[in-house]
Amino acid sequence: MKKIYDIKGMTCSMCKNTIEKSFDRIEGYFASVNLLENKLVIEAEEISDELIIKLINSLGYEVVFEQNKKKKNLNFLISIILVVILMYFSMGHMFNAYMFNLNHFQQGLVQLVLTILIFYFQRNYLSSGFKALKSLKPNMESLVFLSVSSSFVYSLYVLYKLSQNFHNYHLYFETGAMILVIVAIGKYLENINKLEATSAISKLLNLKAVKANLMIDKDKTEVVAISSLKPGDMILIKAGETVPIDCEIIKGQAEIDESLISGETIPVFKQEKDQLIGGTINLNGFLIARVTVKDSDTVLSGIINTCQEVTMKKLPIEKFVDTISSIFVPMIIFISIAVFIAWFLISKDFEVAFNYALSTLTISCPCALGLATPSAIVVATGMLSKEGILLKDSNILEKAHRIKVLLVDKTGTLTENKMEVVNYNFIDSKDSVIVAAIEKNSNHPIAKSVYEYFKAEDFEFDQVIEHTGMGIEALKNQDHYLLGNKKILDKFNINYDKKIVEEALSNAYTSLFFVKNNKIRGNIYLSDIIKKSSYSAVKQLQQKGVEVVMCTGDNKKVAVKVAEKLGINKYYSEVSPEDKYLLTKEYKKQYLTAMVGDGINDAIALTEADISFALSSGSDISYSSSNVLLLKNDLTDISYFIDISKITIKIIKQNLFWSLFYNSLLIPMAAGLFSAYGIHLDPMIAAVMMSISSIVVLTNALRIKRIKKERKETVMELKVVGMTCSHCEAAVERIFKKHGIDAKASKQHSNVVFESSNDIDLIIKEIEEFGYKVEK
Ligand code: ADP
Ligand code: MG
Repeated sequence: MKKIYDIKGMTCSMCKNTIEKSFDRIEGYFASVNLLENKLVIEAEEISDELIIKLINSLGYEVVFEQNKKKKNLNFLISIILVVILMYFSMGHMFNAYMFNLNHFQQGLVQLVLTILIFYFQRNYLSSGFKALKSLKPNMESLVFLSVSSSFVYSLYVLYKLSQNFHNYHLYFETGAMILVIVAIGKYLENINKLEATSAISKLLNLKAVKANLMIDKDKTEVVAISSLKPGDMILIKAGETVPIDCEIIKGQAEIDESLISGETIPVFKQEKDQLIGGTINLNGFLIARVTVKDSDTVLSGIINTCQEVTMKKLPIEKFVDTISSIFVPMIIFISIAVFIAWFLISKDFEVAFNYALSTLTISCPCALGLATPSAIVVATGMLSKEGILLKDSNILEKAHRIKVLLVDKTGTLTENKMEVVNYNFIDSKDSVIVAAIEKNSNHPIAKSVYEYFKAEDFEFDQVIEHTGMGIEALKNQDHYLLGNKKILDKFNINYDKKIVEEALSNAYTSLFFVKNNKIRGNIYLSDIIKKSSYSAVKQLQQKGVEVVMCTGDNKKVAVKVAEKLGINKYYSEVSPEDKYLLTKEYKKQYLTAMVGDGINDAIALTEADISFALSSGSDISYSSSNVLLLKNDLTDISYFIDISKITIKIIKQNLFWSLFYNSLLIPMAAGLFSAYGIHLDPMIAAVMMSISSIVVLTNALRIKRIKKERKETVMELKVVGMTCSHCEAAVERIFKKHGIDAKASKQHSNVVFESSNDIDLIIKEIEEFGYKVEK
């Protein structure tokens, strides 16, 4: 069985290690700690709560049970009810409400009891404010503590006066209680948001297995905790099990569900030598695999860690808020004291002076300031992670809305991770086996497609070297092989007939040359499949004023075709990884430049860009060189990200303005500067005003949720054969127009691209009636 515990008191990865290690000693128990959510996952045959509580306590941490959380919510609810009753007793007399025949003093006593109860239920906030004050590092909670306690102490004095039948005094019990409850409401809302933000991460965490079947010898396995696995260990993964850790298949084959990591819903077939990612699911095979990394270095841990950092790291704007409040809070305390002394000297009346001082302290309680940035960031990152957009660093949220140029890689980024082999020719047909065997060693989308097309039998090379952006080189005994584009031919000084090569490059396909011992012995032609989402992505980005620039290592013909289809005006073809880097650097001089890519060949450009996006279908190195990971491999997510960034920054600015200026503007009024004109701010009203600003800030942050993803047009393509001139194109386009659909026909590509439609069968019929041939 598996059981999850909430643990209190963990702060860093040392805590995680301590707890996980201590379970190693208990037989049959497997433990895994998640710091972000403060959770401990235990797997064992029979789990004893008692044992776990004892162990956790002995390490200095605490197990929090569900009841405690429920109790917290109950406390919160009771406090609100108590405040409402308290308000009835404190303000009811203004409306001639029924007071149960109690006199003033008795009413005051009821208020005292209610207030003490509320303090009891909200004691956490009071004590943390007091602690900060005591250590001379006053924070926002200290201001809450000060205004709550001073109004309480003063009210005790008033209560004493009431008992002596002096009736000219006003009680302030409800002011303190209100402030406290309002702050609690703020915290409560904040927690709800935080939960939402972490839910995407917890989905990932649930993927993580806790134990693995370690092979100790040929036919004996032992169940061990993942944290104890080392690279090189052999493990056994049965059908239906989660792959426990990143590893390489040594024996067996299976279909693997990688959907939660890559967003790809179709299972991927994996066999010997293929890499498995921990957290994916073995659907149907029996696999023996070799562990390749430590538990802490897996792809999944990497993703989880970066998410963790994002939620913990502070934005520059947030640091600014911290600095302000570290000045603001002592200043407010000082001002309140000054107000008290000034009014005491003027009026010689303790009550008047206290009234003004308390109002000042209350109104300036900058709870709103503390909420201004985090509330917006939490809502925004929560929304993004729901869409599978994971930030490594929340700073990027501050920059993304200013993106002017987006450099986009073609293969695997704008186009699908897979290509179609459309044609090939080899002098010796056996060469196709060698070609497939070479490509088996590479992770490039071309390599995977070629390998799957020709499928190699066992064919081992002595050495295989990948030449990024050009192709691949292999050695076996005395034989030297090359497979790649014209660049690799030039690099190895291959003598070739210019005409033949030019002819091979004259069609709009990705053309590969196969070279054996310095002689070209074959060609392979591959065609791109543009991702459906790329059409909408380019359009949406361009509408936002982002210039989309395509850069590809592929040949010019292919680049032109893809760029034209997608409506990209600027493109660079046959660029090397260094060219991509230089290009990024050049654009960066003038514009805020972002880059999105998937390959090893994009890594240095990604590092150089102001903001960089990597696709989860891409290579690990492109992920580690970028700031944002797009789990769904969908470029419309970049456009969505920009929208979220824009609104988040706007909301943060509004919130800061509101919480700083609103409060500061009211301070002079609270201090009694305008009392000559009869303008006062009662402490009670001040508390309400103060809370209004917190609520405004929070609800303002929730407005980010209104940003919806732009509708993706489902773009479709039909092959139309037989169009010979621009009139033909126009005729086909007119048929679509008649059905209210924008379409673009091209005689050159024998196709028509359009937004999806229900009438499609009808349209096809009409096109065919015109005399063209349609292939779906
Ligand atoms: P892009 O920039 O569009 O992602 P790459 O820079 O990754 O493209 O690749 C550029 C070109 O290099 C490919 O079009 C292909 O001709 C060649 N190439 C790269 N890797 C390989 C490989 N593993 N096998 C064959 N050709 C390759
Ligand atoms: Mg690529």
